[in-house]
Amino acid sequence: MEPISPPQNIVIIGAGIAGIACALSISRELSPFVPNLKITVYERHDILSTSGGAINLTPVAQRHLAQLGVLDELDRMGPEGGADVDAIELFSMRSGRSIGSINFTDNQGKGFGGYKGRRVMRIALSVAMLTVAERARNVEIVFGKKVIGGEEFQGSAVVHFQDGTKAVGDLVIGCDGVHSAVRTRFVDVDRPAEYTGLSFLQATIDSDTISSPTHFRTSSLNISRHGSMLASYCDRDGEQIFAAAIVQFSQESLSRYRLEPGQDWATQHKIRCALREEVRDRFGKCAIPCIKEMIEGKVDWMLYPVYQVRPGGRWCLNRVILLGDAAHAMPPRDESAAYALDDAILFSRILSSYRSEPLTEAFDAYETLRRDTINHAFKASRRMWERNREMGFLEGRIKEWMMSFHLKTNENAREAAWAFDATKMALPTPAPSEDLVSLNSFLRNRTL
Ligand SMILES: Cc1cc2nc3c(=O)[nH]c(=O)nc-3n(C[C@H](O)[C@H](O)[C@H](O)COP(=O)(O)OP(=O)(O)OC[C@H]3O[C@@H](n4cnc5c(N)ncnc54)[C@H](O)[C@@H]3O)c2cc1C
Repeated sequence: MEPISPPQNIVIIGAGIAGIACALSISRELSPFVPNLKITVYERHDILSTSGGAINLTPVAQRHLAQLGVLDELDRMGPEGGADVDAIELFSMRSGRSIGSINFTDNQGKGFGGYKGRRVMRIALSVAMLTVAERARNVEIVFGKKVIGGEEFQGSAVVHFQDGTKAVGDLVIGCDGVHSAVRTRFVDVDRPAEYTGLSFLQATIDSDTISSPTHFRTSSLNISRHGSMLASYCDRDGEQIFAAAIVQFSQESLSRYRLEPGQDWATQHKIRCALREEVRDRFGKCAIPCIKEMIEGKVDWMLYPVYQVRPGGRWCLNRVILLGDAAHAMPPRDESAAYALDDAILFSRILSSYRSEPLTEAFDAYETLRRDTINHAFKASRRMWERNREMGFLEGRIKEWMMSFHLKTNENAREAAWAFDATKMALPTPAPSEDLVSLNSFLRNRTL
């Protein structure tokens, strides 16, 4: 029988967090064993997308970005590389009262394993990741390639792009996000993304346009019975505040608020005014002066409907696997990007240690390692999101009381989770081959 060789030509779909992290991590893990390793990342956008606002990175996400060399690159950007977050402070919008905090530092003010939280604009994170990827000698990124389908053959998998071209790989990794075409056209066609019923209304606001003092140090989550409003600096100099309201929106109303390229000025203006009204209707009675100013000011809010992908379906075929949101998009919380990074690092390590085994065995080992964790995280994030649905007066008060209790009781589990390091986690190991088993027993018998 011919020995099995590791994949040499790897195709990754999507240049998001999972896709680039996967390219960097596979390059590091497989390069010593595969001299002609070629990793090509195909991204549907022609250029990096500037939309999406800011993202919070937990200590786990920062640790993994540091290991991939991305954190140094973010730091080199200066103030735009993001604001350090010691804690997300929680407040009641009704009373302005402090409810508690999610701390990213220990009692001595030190980050967990050296890392705190960070709030950074998505575009800055993408630029940092791409800069590191460009330096990797066996990674290439090709823009303007939207996947529309694919198929598997004996020793390869093929993806088809909208422009009529295709890419062939020994291994194809779908990292194309919540609406993944690799999943819906190829791996698991019966698992579309589902609208959660909740949306983000996001805006970036110049701090000097807000005259009231801010009630938070770097980051705040302001709770009400109509949803929550996040307000956080997203640059080190505190020049910009990222605001995001998490609110219930019916699926039918989404199309009314969609800003699209090509819309005339009057339509865009009407949508912007309607979104401002939506924010005022829900949070107009806020008792926190700086949040009230944001709500009543001429802020341009953008609507981001939130979708989820239940993790319970198929994650792989024989030569294709899904990672990140493509496999399991949970309603986003601060850990979501960390799960995409964990996926990339763990899969790359397994791919390397199973390099002499069929790909399907590496896929099985990865699923065995990951399924339970992801199912558990998905359920936890669904429960958390339920708290942002519209509530009656009494239920809203109970939510506030329960929130401080909840923050306290989960503190230890949360902080323990921030110590996680995907580069150190014990992995399943390939079963020894029959030849090796018989050699071992021969040697054992000889020494007896
Ligand atoms: C509004 C919002 C706020 C969030 N805030 C946070 C937060 O604060 N902290 C946090 O940890 N997580 C947050 N998340 C979740 C986090 O953004 C995701 O978990 C993370 O981006 C997943 O990474 P990914 O690489 O799997 O997918 P993505 O980041 O979505 O990347 C997918 C990539 O694939 C490309 N692509 C898509 N379709 C195709 C195709 N057909 N062909 C080729 N390329 C394609 C896309 O253009 C994109 O570049 C938030 C999510 C949302 C929606």
